[in-house]
Amino acid sequence: MGVRSELPLLGSRCSPCGNVAYPAAAGCQRCGSSDLVSVELARTGTVWAHTVQRFAPKSPPYVPPAEGFAPFAVGYVDLPDGVKVEAVLEASTVDDPAELVDARVTLVATEPVPRFATDGWLATRSSTEKAGGR
Ligand SMILES: [Zn+2]
Repeated sequence: MGVRSELPLLGSRCSPCGNVAYPAAAGCQRCGSSDLVSVELARTGTVWAHTVQRFAPKSPPYVPPAEGFAPFAVGYVDLPDGVKVEAVLEASTVDDPAELVDARVTLVATEPVPRFATDGWLATRSSTEKAGGR
């Protein structure tokens, strides 16, 4: 896989009750404890729910890409750690819901927000990189 994925996805886990939160919280949303430890979350999960952003969000904070705004998918990724992470979803096409519903997705390294990509998108990306002689 030529896709970089070094970015850790850091959340927090409550010591007394085990509740996991992302982003990392200062206090547990379930039991109120402040006895939390930092945990690195799984990099793969499944899409729990998603929608398509079809118009450019307000800028700032949104930074439009150099090539201009294009519709993109956003949704919640259900991680095995027991937490749902809201993220941008990279997909081959946002107009094919079949690619995104319950799709297995993998974290890709981007700042400042985490993005998840479908296996289909990753396959497209790695074949493009091979073609580019990387
Ligand atoms: Zn707790």
